[in-house]
Amino acid sequence: MFEREVSDVIKFSIDKKQKEHNEEGQPWYDTKEGILNSLKSFPDLVQMIEERHTAGYCRNERLNQFYVLGRYWLDSCGNCCKAQGFIPKEQFADIPDVLTKDEFWDFIKKHQEDKELMISFVLQSDMPLPNITCPVCGKGWDIQNCHDTVVWHKTDAISLTDFVGKTLGQVKQHYNQLTNAIYRMQSDILIRNDRFIDLSPKYPKPEHDWQKRIVKNQNGWVSEKDGITDDYVIQKGDEGFFNIWAYYHGVCNREHLEKTEEQEFRKIFEKAGFQDIRMSAILNQYCGCDHCAPWFNVNTEFGTITIGWRKRVINIDWSKVEEASQACGEFPKPNIISLFADEDVTKGQAYIHAWGWEKAQDYLSRIHSHLAS
Ligand SMILES: [Zn+2]
Ligand SMILES: [Zn+2]
Ligand SMILES: [Zn+2]
Ligand SMILES: [Zn+2]
Repeated sequence: MFEREVSDVIKFSIDKKQKEHNEEGQPWYDTKEGILNSLKSFPDLVQMIEERHTAGYCRNERLNQFYVLGRYWLDSCGNCCKAQGFIPKEQFADIPDVLTKDEFWDFIKKHQEDKELMISFVLQSDMPLPNITCPVCGKGWDIQNCHDTVVWHKTDAISLTDFVGKTLGQVKQHYNQLTNAIYRMQSDILIRNDRFIDLSPKYPKPEHDWQKRIVKNQNGWVSEKDGITDDYVIQKGDEGFFNIWAYYHGVCNREHLEKTEEQEFRKIFEKAGFQDIRMSAILNQYCGCDHCAPWFNVNTEFGTITIGWRKRVINIDWSKVEEASQACGEFPKPNIISLFADEDVTKGQAYIHAWGWEKAQDYLSRIHSHLAS
């Protein structure tokens, strides 16, 4: 029944005194019935999770534990954790939508046959908000597929030119309504403007050497500490600091990664002088995670070059070019690797690591001129 034994680590929330399951007098978000009711719609589910979060984090309520949709663990501290690796729902389609802790583990024990299952959860749900849509297909999520997300988080300084004369509160309101990602400001870094830069010493009477180097405001960022509230009126030149979470469906994420990466690689091959370029995506030979783009076999007029990111370098592999030219019985070209004698980077007989797009383009140019000569 199982394709493999699951032996990942269980990450517990810190919960020293195990509490008996007890729903008496508990609010709706902490009873089986209330949680079942929340599964009627995706917005209700999200609200239930947020209620538990607030209860656990802001009011320190100790909650009952539930396992929901065969994928999520609602722990006693208000977290919603997501099963990773072994997903009960995908192995046991008949798993009930809401189980208490004991019921869940009884269910697993009954179904695991003679193998001992370990189920691991990560301490985040990766669940989008109900109004969020996927940048690729424009569709949102519902109860059936809310687990199918790949989340990209970044921080960004966004120009607030369009909001000059409006309040910071209005800016936040605007960004809260956007659907292509979740945008959140944070109180300890809010607004940047050159006019806030103050290079005078922060410690006019320094007692330590390091204090001599500290200025009052080097980059022009201000926060709540500096008196910036929601009533602050946006000025010309202001930028806002945002945390941005974009959500993609798994398939859309792959498609997006492949398309954008293919364009970038095509560009450097073209700039390097190659003309007949056909690209096919292959598995990333270094990392298979959701955030890493595929690698590519790039067919050119001189044979196939394999290329792809490997951490912070681009791996360029021309072994197929050399194999092909030898197979054709052509005079073997002098080793391509000899073109890179001066490059102090990781390299082998038929590959080299380029530190970034520019270097990769440079190496490809050299390979192209060499093969074309
Ligand atoms: Zn919260
Ligand atoms: Zn999508
Ligand atoms: Zn990766
Ligand atoms: Zn990743």
